[in-house]
Amino acid sequence: MNQVPTIKLNNGTLMPQLGFGVWQVPDDEAERAVGAALEAGYRSVDTAASYGNEEGTGRAIAASGVPREELFVTTKLWNVKTKVWDRDGVLRAFDESLGRLGLDHLDLYLIHWPRPMRDDFLTIWQTFEEIAASGRARAVGVSNFRPVDLERIGGVSTLVPAVNQIELHPLFPQTELRALHARLGIATEAWSPLGQGKELLALPVVTAIADKHGRSAAQVVLRWHLQQGVIVIPKSVTPSRIRENLDVFGFELDADDIAALDALGSGPEGRRIGPDPAVFDI
Ligand code: NAD
Repeated sequence: MNQVPTIKLNNGTLMPQLGFGVWQVPDDEAERAVGAALEAGYRSVDTAASYGNEEGTGRAIAASGVPREELFVTTKLWNVKTKVWDRDGVLRAFDESLGRLGLDHLDLYLIHWPRPMRDDFLTIWQTFEEIAASGRARAVGVSNFRPVDLERIGGVSTLVPAVNQIELHPLFPQTELRALHARLGIATEAWSPLGQGKELLALPVVTAIADKHGRSAAQVVLRWHLQQGVIVIPKSVTPSRIRENLDVFGFELDADDIAALDALGSGPEGRRIGPDPAVFDI
């Protein structure tokens, strides 16, 4: 039984609020992990061309027997070093991702990073408009886009990104960017929602709330996201954790819990873990 709520994206597409991420999971292991996730009841999977595991993800989807219309599959256009994308290159990369996944359409296609220094994301976005119009991606969006990048898209296109997938967790709460998303009608999706399973899950504030509810620290952090309407895609290759991360719909954090977790972002540990989109270029 799938209890995961859906979020209605700005074009009406429904996206599960909790999905399964596969960054840094080698192709064969991704096949096993995605298989375990689908078995556990996940119906949304987040991969990317750069993760090198679209094929394993696709094999797991094919073997699962889950009807395609019950699944929500996201992948992302990668940035290849100094390459500056043009329309044909983007269309080819999209086809190649579909081919590796063994699918005839995607549910969500994202620009992985803005790379402002390459100045090509407006061309990419205009090509994404074509992809969306063709119906081969039910929704298109961006990842790691800053307010200034979103503004530039708004300057050339009436198609508002359905999603901005950003680093977000209690130690890096992105309050202003989330408020901008709400104003623009962009759904916020959190990457590294568990803070990559590092110090966040061991902080006394987090473990105390977990003890209070008889839940794990990871489950508490996922509730913090879900109760604020954020989409999450926690990653694990351990079947028990894969199940644990989905089993977060039977309890609720109270206002004190949320306030204590909110306060972490402005505390001494508050910071980003991943790269800064203003300078990240690979
Ligand atoms: P995460 O916050 O999901 O943390 C994953 C790690 O936390 C695991 O490797 C494991 O060590 C630990 N963990 C998982 N479940 C746990 C549990 N129940 N108890 C204790 N520890 C647990 O980090 P992530 O993988 O970086 O992010 C999730 C997904 O976000 C990725 O797999 C990927 O799909 C996406 N992502 C996107 C971008 C981007 O640039 N768009 C960047 C990073 C990640």
